[in-house]
Amino acid sequence: MILGAIEAGGTKFVCGIGNENGEILERVSFPTETPEVTLAKVVEFFKNKNIEKLGIGSFGPIDVNPNSKTYGYITKTPKLAWTDCDVVGYLKKYFDIPIYFDTDVNGAALGEATWGAAKGLENCLYMTIGTGIGGGALVSGKLVHGMLHPEMGHIMVRRHPEDKYEGKCPFHKDCLEGMAAGPAIEERWGKKGYELPSDHEAWDMEAFYIAQGVVNFILILSPEKIILGGGVMKQQQLFPKIREKVVEMLKGYVQTKEILENIDEYIVYPELGDNAGLLGAMALTL
Ligand code: ADP
Ligand code: ZN
Repeated sequence: MILGAIEAGGTKFVCGIGNENGEILERVSFPTETPEVTLAKVVEFFKNKNIEKLGIGSFGPIDVNPNSKTYGYITKTPKLAWTDCDVVGYLKKYFDIPIYFDTDVNGAALGEATWGAAKGLENCLYMTIGTGIGGGALVSGKLVHGMLHPEMGHIMVRRHPEDKYEGKCPFHKDCLEGMAAGPAIEERWGKKGYELPSDHEAWDMEAFYIAQGVVNFILILSPEKIILGGGVMKQQQLFPKIREKVVEMLKGYVQTKEILENIDEYIVYPELGDNAGLLGAMALTL
């Protein structure tokens, strides 16, 4: 079967053609502009490719409730040109095929559970730490939506005792995203994450915040695998720091072999790497 996939990001859109084995046969990427410009490019790419199903993993917030009048919309996003944009409706006009629409992180969680680091597991968490922070969760084999969809980046966190930075979230200031997403690192330290040396104190502080998120999600969702992706997690030195802090913060309360014996295999980088988003969108069609 020929499957189409769109990783709809706030910075860039990636479109690809693939199949149910998780193979990507062709892909393109372009910057996110206005919906008119960007969605026209999407249509242009998929036209005449004979895709049979299309999966979209999107930045949000989005409406994923099939019973809602605004199903398939990007809703109240800080990216104003995309506010109330009917993404699925637009694409339906050109492609009379089943279209699957979910958050980018829910897609990535499903992609990793289908072909990647959480293959075969029914419970996993995917978190991205990039321009924002978001999480997608597969629980008992189903992606969690609920009332809207989880917004795991905006949980409250304890402040690092030495951190005077006020926080960057436009809604909450010092929520997890406000303290630990890429733009917060940049504003706090005056340099972009990838310009800071790997032994900089920024990374201990970063791990302190990410670990709090991970601990809370372990306690709430009980995932069997936690996958941490996004630009900031390219700093591989964060992994041992986060694992150590997670164990420390849990204080022995969760007695599982994943945490006590196999933490290195429990909190991991996406196995699908840079294709995590695109394959995630493709997995939504299965
Ligand atoms: P997006 O979240 O927009 O989809 P990314 O996941 O690439 O995109 O995240 C971009 C953010 O990650 C930026 O704030 C950028 O500064 C930061 N970033 C990208 N690469 C690295 C890196 N190697 N080390 C630290 N931070 C990085
Ligand atoms: Zn917030």
